[in-house]
Amino acid sequence: MPKVIIIGGGICGLSSAMYLAKAGWEVTVLDKNDFADNCSYGNAGFVCPSHYIQLATPGIVKQGFKWMLNNQSPFYIQPRISKSLIGWGWSFIRSANKQNVEKHGIPLRDIGLLSQYEYENVWQKEMDIEYVHKGMLEIFKTEKGKEESASLVAIGQRLELDIELIDREELQALEPHTKVNALGAIHYKCDGHLSPDKLMKALITQLHQLGVKMINNAEVTDIILAQNRIQSIKTKTAAFEADAFVLAAGAWSGILAKKLDLKLPLVGGRGYSVTLPIDSEALNIQHPGLLVEGRCAFSPIENGKIRFGGTMEITSHNVPPRFERVKGILKAVHEFFPEIDISLDEIKDRVWSGFRPISGDGMPYIGRTSKWRNLIVATGHGQLGISLGAATGLLVLELLEGKKTSVDITAFSLERFN
Ligand SMILES: Cc1cc2nc3c(=O)[nH]c(=O)nc-3n(C[C@H](O)[C@H](O)[C@H](O)COP(=O)(O)OP(=O)(O)OC[C@H]3O[C@@H](n4cnc5c(N)ncnc54)[C@H](O)[C@@H]3O)c2cc1C
Repeated sequence: MPKVIIIGGGICGLSSAMYLAKAGWEVTVLDKNDFADNCSYGNAGFVCPSHYIQLATPGIVKQGFKWMLNNQSPFYIQPRISKSLIGWGWSFIRSANKQNVEKHGIPLRDIGLLSQYEYENVWQKEMDIEYVHKGMLEIFKTEKGKEESASLVAIGQRLELDIELIDREELQALEPHTKVNALGAIHYKCDGHLSPDKLMKALITQLHQLGVKMINNAEVTDIILAQNRIQSIKTKTAAFEADAFVLAAGAWSGILAKKLDLKLPLVGGRGYSVTLPIDSEALNIQHPGLLVEGRCAFSPIENGKIRFGGTMEITSHNVPPRFERVKGILKAVHEFFPEIDISLDEIKDRVWSGFRPISGDGMPYIGRTSKWRNLIVATGHGQLGISLGAATGLLVLELLEGKKTSVDITAFSLERFN
């Protein structure tokens, strides 16, 4: 039985573990923590083929600079002298152009649809992940938001996704319990959502049943290389050998990529969320979605619970949470849903935060490298790790077994920044 070691127990690592174990590989997953919390838990759970626009857009770079001066804004870069931050920033600015946005629409749609197919036809049948396919709303409140949304709809329709622009009345009819202060929305009927917490727990149970070894408190600190291959990896207490290795260490993948001499620009983009019981009519929101001008997400993640989340804070991993950002999320929620008025003091002890792995263009890194023959990388999924998680695991299996991949992965190449 071929042996594989996966570094990282988030959705990308565990999804890879599941596909590999089912295909007969002997799988070990190492995680520096205890598999009970990482970015794959407190997120909004969107499974969204509709996210066909790469993160690096000309608009986000321009807006990002303005937002940096506001402590409640949805985007922030902690100023610091760091070679990897500067390298990432340079890649991001250079990638944020119209040509890339157009070029990446089809690959993002295709991997999104593949992932959704896997969640609907495989995962949902084997695990309780509370997957629901009822669409997603992207709500705007300004004329500018409406204009931008109309052009997004046109792109999505050209990509043959089931999407439409709806007006204020149609939006309100979809959300009968909650007053919505907006001009309208994009209704992404093609999207679904799930409960990330249930997903991760169910996946771990499934992996135990499949005989996958999961080792916690096992931070990979060193990689021993010989003749174009990884020979072994080391934690503080042990060394591990295997036929193949998968790097899926989320926002920390850049540290290990350096040891592998790979040029993978990557930073951690911290986001926050808060999960509340639906204990009032106004909180009984029926669909998941995004508030365009508020730049935050809402998601009825499980029966009886609603989650609000957002912000992108490019900051060191050891900086404590900045609660002003959470205030910004709550303020945006109140502006769009005026009956929902939550103060930070009420929910401060329930705030969750996690680091998204943000690549140099916001597109994932999935593939092989010409440097190390027995390595697959699966990271850099940014705001799409859950959405693309199922497809990522399947692609890792296909790559390791030398099969034709189910979708074209050229756009996710590890060598695009060389
Ligand atoms: C507020 C918010 C909302 C979001 N909403 C959505 C959404 O609706 N839909 C969506 O698709 N995505 C969403 N995301 C993004 C999504 O959560 C991430 O893309 C995804 O969780 C990343 O998964 P991962 O497996 O790459 O990383 P992680 O889940 O962070 O897992 C990486 C793991 O690697 C381990 N690790 C790191 N270094 C080492 C090492 N050296 N040795 C061993 N282990 C190591 C870590 O401990 C961690 O457990 C959201 C994120 C945030 C913050």
